[in-house]
Amino acid sequence: VGRAGVHCLTLETGFPLGSVNVYLVEGDPLTLVDCGPRGIVTRRSLESGLGAIGRSLDEVELLLLTHQHVDHHGMAHDLIDEFGIEVACLDSLAWYLERWPETCAADMTHRAARIRRHGMPAAFVTAFEAQLDRRIGEAAAIDVGRRLREGDIVDLGQTQLRVLHRPGHSPSDTVFWADDGAFAFVGDHLLLRISANPLMALGIPWESRFRPLLEYRRSLAKTKETALGMCFTGHGPTVVDHVELVSKRVAEQDERSGLIEAAFQREPGRTAWDVAHEVFGAKAHQVPILCLSEVVAHIERLEEENRLVRSGSEVVRFAPA
Ligand SMILES: [Zn+2]
Repeated sequence: VGRAGVHCLTLETGFPLGSVNVYLVEGDPLTLVDCGPRGIVTRRSLESGLGAIGRSLDEVELLLLTHQHVDHHGMAHDLIDEFGIEVACLDSLAWYLERWPETCAADMTHRAARIRRHGMPAAFVTAFEAQLDRRIGEAAAIDVGRRLREGDIVDLGQTQLRVLHRPGHSPSDTVFWADDGAFAFVGDHLLLRISANPLMALGIPWESRFRPLLEYRRSLAKTKETALGMCFTGHGPTVVDHVELVSKRVAEQDERSGLIEAAFQREPGRTAWDVAHEVFGAKAHQVPILCLSEVVAHIERLEEENRLVRSGSEVVRFAPA
């Protein structure tokens, strides 16, 4: 990429999610933004990417993390262990990563309870719960040297990055914005080719209730008002016009909310899973958690706007307000 000494390294993962972008920022300290998932394929890909620009892992001094999803931070423990790299991230993300695997397990348990309550068939819930050990192994607890807050500046010598908390895709989404307005690292907050899912998750720290779509829309409104410049994303191409992209994403969300509201108007008293099935078809069986998360996120918005009401306790059902 080259701008202001920023290099984009697109890492292979060997997983269905495809590739993930991490960034090396030339400066003092030499800084990596995200590090990719844990695994030999990604590790080799990171090493060769750095090698291609004349750098190596033992030169990296600081690791900035954009959010709590393992495809962005899973390798962190191994890098810290081997190279003594310092980690800086949002304080809530630090709280989450320092308590791994309890946080991972709590998040999974929370999701399992909610997908069951939203009508997902027992076989899917059981399959989800069976992933726990594998999920835990995708990362390990790390010590975070620098805990960041909204508005903080990360000084990288020639570049100063401002910390912006933009929850939605996950509770800990963080944008690192160069203070000359030329560019920003946006993680999965903005992606060019796909809309980032508002995923079901526990708010961190645990006491808060996280409603992803509502949070995401608040965050997108802020992002639209911020002159971010080039947006370096966690997956796929750089976003050049984030204002246009935010408008497009918000319009897509409005359309989907309308679709989900209409589904409950046609046939009231159904569960979120019933409607996920109707809206996503076969995809609801391939990626059930993603599809159900999205429907539930829209339902939370529709309830907030007094367009839907819920009934039931063990299994919840919805109808027009
Ligand atoms: Zn993510």
